[in-house]
Amino acid sequence: MNQLAIHNPATGALITEVPADDAASVAAKSQQARAAQARWAGLPLAERKACITRFRAAIVAELEPLAAIMTRETGKPIRMSRNELNGLLGRIDFFLTEVDGSTATQTVFNEGGMTEQIEHTPLGVVANISAWNYPWFVGGNVFIPALLTGNAVLYKPSEYATLTGLAIARLLHAAGVPQDVFVPLIGGGAVGAALLAQKIDGLFFTGSYATGARIAQAMGPRLVKLQLELGGKDPTYVCEDAHPQTAAESLADGAMYNTGQSCCSVERIYVHETIYEAFVAAFVATVKTFQVGDPMLDSTYIGAITRAPQLDVLDAQVADALAKGATLLMGGKRGAGPGNWYEPTVFSHVNHGMELMREESFGPLIGIQKVSGDAEAVKLMNDTRYGLTAGVFSPDAARAKALLAQVNAGSVYWNCCDRVSPRLPWSGHGDSGVGLTLSTYGIQTFTRPKAWHLRQG
Ligand code: NAD
Repeated sequence: MNQLAIHNPATGALITEVPADDAASVAAKSQQARAAQARWAGLPLAERKACITRFRAAIVAELEPLAAIMTRETGKPIRMSRNELNGLLGRIDFFLTEVDGSTATQTVFNEGGMTEQIEHTPLGVVANISAWNYPWFVGGNVFIPALLTGNAVLYKPSEYATLTGLAIARLLHAAGVPQDVFVPLIGGGAVGAALLAQKIDGLFFTGSYATGARIAQAMGPRLVKLQLELGGKDPTYVCEDAHPQTAAESLADGAMYNTGQSCCSVERIYVHETIYEAFVAAFVATVKTFQVGDPMLDSTYIGAITRAPQLDVLDAQVADALAKGATLLMGGKRGAGPGNWYEPTVFSHVNHGMELMREESFGPLIGIQKVSGDAEAVKLMNDTRYGLTAGVFSPDAARAKALLAQVNAGSVYWNCCDRVSPRLPWSGHGDSGVGLTLSTYGIQTFTRPKAWHLRQG
């Protein structure tokens, strides 16, 4: 059997090796899931909810060791691992509260002996190919509502969050979800590719645009429901009436939280020229307070870069910005090894000729650009192939809402950033993806609406 080696990105040390899947085991497990799905879907919803409720309780009971596992394999600072697990509890509660209403059969017409109803039936067997940066969040956005609505789930955690994926499987199985209904598939891209070749009824992917586009191409002729939650280059505009210090503190956190490795990290900042210098000074001062170091320490705010190849992306964006005349205010190079480290890096006097304002950095790197006013800010915010989130800082609600209405993004933020709510749909425009998770729409997306035309005989 194949073995997958798991390393600690903060030290480079081998944590362990685990048995990995191959094309044959992926095929066998997919067939088992197919055979098991109908029985799971046939259970009363209350029984599936009871399993997820027990899963929630197990997360609460094991929160510290689960946080430590995630931190060791991803380099995520431990307090952010705890935040993710605590945040997941709120998402589970939302799904448990909303699933009955979102999936109840609706009678939409009932006259003269004719009844019309919409029934929400499960898709069947769904594949969930997941990312490492928030493995509980992005996985849970899929497998929790998918299981609640009666689907079997073939779950491929990222190879950089495998131990977390195995912990999720262990807890779901202990909570009563059958082994063949939630099936972890362990390995890297080849195992994901093998999963695409199976008979599946839905594919729910979270990851990079490059992989998402490859998957879309492979799945194209298959006519299977496809959702892709991909990267972003999320902008925020700070208006001249905003408070520079308050905006800088919020946006420094939005840019550097999780070491900048969030899909909705603030990746571009535009600041009105009248407060530009004050904002930049406050931003740099805030980032300098962020403690870089051992992700297992409570005091650490900036941890390791999870994937070593991302260091090359960051180096290239820094070199490109320097070559094109940007001002480096702090950082700009790798941190001392062993492990994958990058110094928190801030550039001012950047422009859209530079890669760091165009392509996802996915690290502790940010450019701050000066703008002359609202029109230029909106034009620049929309000058991207992505469209995940965007924000405006201003005390003027009407102005901020008018600006955000013009921005092409799935989520928009007024005086906040880097925020996800279980109550709101999470989706991307353009190369940030297709489909959505979260909200009641993100429950129904795991079902197929079946139309019933019933005439009294
Ligand atoms: P990735 O694309 O490298 O990998 C994602 C998953 O795809 C992994 O499980 C990987 O093993 C698998 N995979 C790789 N090649 C495959 C193939 N040919 N066929 C099938 N599966 C394959 O992405 P990543 O580095 O894990 O995640 C980072 C990216 O995810 C960033 O771009 C980030 O913005 C994005 N992301 C988006 C969201 C969102 O909600 N929009 C959330 C989190 C992360």
